[in-house]
Amino acid sequence: MIILKIGGSILTNKDSTVSEVDNVSLKRIASEIKASLDISPKQLIIVHGAGSFGHPPAKKYKIGEAFDESEYPQKRIGFCETQNEVKKLNMLICEAFIEEGLPVVAIPASSFMSATNKRITEGNLDYFEKYLQKGFIPVIYGDVVLDSQLEICVISGDQLIQYLAKNLNPDMVVLGTDVDGVYNKNPKTHDDAIFYDKFSSLEDLDAFEGTTNVDVTGGMVGKIKELLYLADLGIESKIINAEVKDNIFKVLEDEDVKGTIISRGN
Ligand code: ADP
Repeated sequence: MIILKIGGSILTNKDSTVSEVDNVSLKRIASEIKASLDISPKQLIIVHGAGSFGHPPAKKYKIGEAFDESEYPQKRIGFCETQNEVKKLNMLICEAFIEEGLPVVAIPASSFMSATNKRITEGNLDYFEKYLQKGFIPVIYGDVVLDSQLEICVISGDQLIQYLAKNLNPDMVVLGTDVDGVYNKNPKTHDDAIFYDKFSSLEDLDAFEGTTNVDVTGGMVGKIKELLYLADLGIESKIINAEVKDNIFKVLEDEDVKGTIISRGN
């Protein structure tokens, strides 16, 4: 089974304050996945980020920060707004995938997962297995969930990858984003950034620049932290550039694709 994450950075205009889907990328990625499944059927779980849909409301209402009881009504509305926005994005993604003939079924985190201090502590994945067995492609995405310490919080697509991989024992974990992989510093702002084929420690990063945009869930550093945690469990993952045509197809076909392997080994 393969767990594939498609970053919000590719599917949406993440730096924008309005919610926009990148329909061209979405259609291309859907057709690459379909082409691979047509050649070699495989079990697949898709995770996607919240991009420009989820981050603005989550930031506006400071979801995940401690608050007074008096603020609860506002926080609740913020939770609902965020949940609704990411649901809209998920619906557009699923629509494009179904049009391409991919049997996707959405399983939103807010409907079955909960967290403790922003970490997922509950979420029964039996339904993922049931849908996989019947040939469906479960889709889950960055969302808001109940939190036993903070009442409510945001769960990133990257944390979902980690939780799913830890519990479902996949053969491959792939994250498609808008850069070729991990560099010693942000390649979008540093021309001299050095690319890593393999990454095994956060100490290899020069500058802890989380991200170039409004991401409230940690950007590249957050991503690497989740993947290093998986590496500690012996689960390797790969970050690739999903903006490069055919990269998703190739990686699903186990062909060579430029990217960074996150693992603790040498
Ligand atoms: P996604 O939405 O695809 O999950 P993010 O936007 O959260 O991805 O993170 C990817 C972004 O992280 C890249 O576009 C890049 O600008 C930024 N970034 C910051 N530091 C680094 C780094 N050291 N190596 C690679 N990318 C980095």
